[in-house]
Amino acid sequence: MGISRRKFLGWFGGLSATAVSAANNAIAGSNHHFKGHPDTMGVLHDINRCIGCRKCEEACNKVNELPKPDQPFDDLSVLDQKRRTHADVYTVVNQFKIGKDNVFVKKQCNHCMEPACASACFVKAFKKMPNGSVVYDESVCVGCRYCMIACPFNIPAYDYDSALSPKVTKCTLCFPRVEKGLLPGCVEACPKEALIYGNRNELIKIARERIYKHPDQYIDHIYGEHEMGGTSWLYISGKPFSEMGMREDLGIKSAPELTSGPLSAVPIVVGLWPVLLTGVYAISKRKDKVAEEEKEEAVKAAEQIADEELKKQIAKLKLEATKEKEAAIKKEVQKALDEAAKEAEQKAKDKAADAANEEKEVE
Ligand code: SF4
Ligand code: SF4
Repeated sequence: MGISRRKFLGWFGGLSATAVSAANNAIAGSNHHFKGHPDTMGVLHDINRCIGCRKCEEACNKVNELPKPDQPFDDLSVLDQKRRTHADVYTVVNQFKIGKDNVFVKKQCNHCMEPACASACFVKAFKKMPNGSVVYDESVCVGCRYCMIACPFNIPAYDYDSALSPKVTKCTLCFPRVEKGLLPGCVEACPKEALIYGNRNELIKIARERIYKHPDQYIDHIYGEHEMGGTSWLYISGKPFSEMGMREDLGIKSAPELTSGPLSAVPIVVGLWPVLLTGVYAISKRKDKVAEEEKEEAVKAAEQIADEELKKQIAKLKLEATKEKEAAIKKEVQKALDEAAKEAEQKAKDKAADAANEEKEVE
């Protein structure tokens, strides 16, 4: 017994509704984990104060016991190139020529309030900690690098040298140090207080105050206050952020908020698509079968009609042929009769003539 399309779609609709409500529960469940820690710590980077001395890079290298770079930290010629973080370098300072000014910006993980890397990682290797750090657990990492695709700031770097034990690296906001009550290495090393570590809400107040007191020196915007749902690393500057390689098209919705909808559809897609496709396949198969049956019936009916038509045609032809034949025979017979009559008449005439001749001859 095939299932009708109407019945299947009705059934499938019911199933989807159940799945959607299940997904809504899933959304609620997942968001629950990423709501961030409103009273978290952070770092305020005052770009106006940065002189590009790279002391922060050096300190970061040291506190994280990273391999020494080829060029020493006091070699400022590296600032001629735009650099990004990578496996052995958790933070870089880049130089931007804006108008007649040289501006220096420090780049590292922004420790998002609701990190995209964490929501993309299906083994939960990343976690947002109450102290603001987004930490990474390499023991569960499978090296899929979804986090690298998900990060809007292009931060997580892959350690290709440890192919057998995949590892992603990035700034940890010096989690081990701040857990001990120490300052992050870079913040401690900065000679210009271009980096301040503290309660995020307090840092926002400080930033607002500086902008308010020096409107001619600062853009009226705290980068990271709302971007992607907010980050623990905040920036103020006298130059447009987009001119310093910082994205201003990210919006204020966090990555989990942006993705949880589509992600919550995964169970629907993974769970229901096979059902839908099987159903559609079954319906199309049934349709094909019905179509095939209908075609066969149509062919049979057509054959029957054609057959009958043919029989009629044949009968008609036969009839016509018979009639023609009869007519022909009739005609032939008639002709023969006529001829015979003519012949008989002729004969009679001949006989009469003969007789007349004979009579004449006798006379
Ligand atoms: S917070 Fe720590 S890990 Fe992050 S850039 Fe600064 S020193 Fe490096
Ligand atoms: S140590 Fe401070 S001033 Fe020096 S480059 Fe880093 S952030 Fe800028």
